[in-house]
Amino acid sequence: MARPLIDGFGRRITYVRLSVTDRCDFRCAYCMPLDQQFLPKRDVLTLEELESVAMAFIDRGVTRIRLTGGEPLVRKGILDLATRIGRRLGHGLQELTLTTNGSQLARFAEGLAAAGIRRVNVSLDSLDPSCFAAITRKGRLEPVLEGIAAAKSAGLGVKINMVALKGMNEDEILPMAQWCAEQGFDLTFIETMPLGLIEEDRTDRYLPLTEVRRLLEARFTLSPLAERTGGPARYVRVVETGQKLGFITPLTHNFCESCNRVRVTATGTLFMCLGQEDRVELRDLLRSGGPEALDSALDRAMALKPRGHDFVIERRGSPPAVARTMSMTGG
Ligand code: SAM
Ligand code: SF4
Repeated sequence: MARPLIDGFGRRITYVRLSVTDRCDFRCAYCMPLDQQFLPKRDVLTLEELESVAMAFIDRGVTRIRLTGGEPLVRKGILDLATRIGRRLGHGLQELTLTTNGSQLARFAEGLAAAGIRRVNVSLDSLDPSCFAAITRKGRLEPVLEGIAAAKSAGLGVKINMVALKGMNEDEILPMAQWCAEQGFDLTFIETMPLGLIEEDRTDRYLPLTEVRRLLEARFTLSPLAERTGGPARYVRVVETGQKLGFITPLTHNFCESCNRVRVTATGTLFMCLGQEDRVELRDLLRSGGPEALDSALDRAMALKPRGHDFVIERRGSPPAVARTMSMTGG
């Protein structure tokens, strides 16, 4: 590797989350407001620009790329992009993955597998059609379940992400764990993070994962795993089913010291941390600066990566930690 990306705290950056669109066909209550305004097309990176960003990172030693959004599968040309980035698998890139709400997965599963994607993360907060509709507001459960089944038949590994929401899906923690175990899916629970202004107060929905763990431990034996991915998740094995469960607890635990990742928004802003404002704008460089300008922007970015975030959800009515939503930054 010519010049790996190493930040000011000695952390090597090997993982990029690349948001391919800010648009989404759902309006999950914890993620974006119902009247979310989406960006004009000219502000969003073209497929060629997204590909150039991916290549620039791979050339600097990034081995894992996750395509995300907004909803990545509503971006026109997404399969083309995945296929082009997928050609670098085995040539610097070790893994290409995707995070999706699953609504379009039935159409795309085969194509994603053909592009070299081996695993997808599907966000699924409820297996109850009315609760699912209440959380996603524009979503329907059935096509998502069809999409998940299609991913499984296409040979894709499926990991389910479930945001734990007080008073919404608390009673679905055990059924979801059971269903995922039956289906052979790993499952990760996520705490809501204070990102972006939404309609309701986040303290009303905040369910600490210590509580989720307590619910699970009443039924199952959880055995901690040493596995780390450089991200916020901590894993356990369910002794009774063999299933792997993850817990993403940015609020109750700090996970920043081993952070290996950065995020690029659909407009080409490179954010060094999900919970801080440090950024480098790549779009103008892509449009007028050329490959060297892009490459030196990555060096500038390394110097800016902060030590960590300072999320807290403690006071009612307190403003979000950062104003942009997860769908903006690329979750
Ligand atoms: N639309 C795709 C999806 O839902 O999987 C990809 C983008 S979405 C922003 C990525 C992940 O972020 C989802 O699992 C979603 O549940 C999670 N997410 C969004 N806003 C969040 C928040 N405020 N706190 C915690 N997780 C959040
Ligand atoms: Fe869309 Fe994903 Fe945000 Fe839900 S979490 S509104 S599916 S971007």
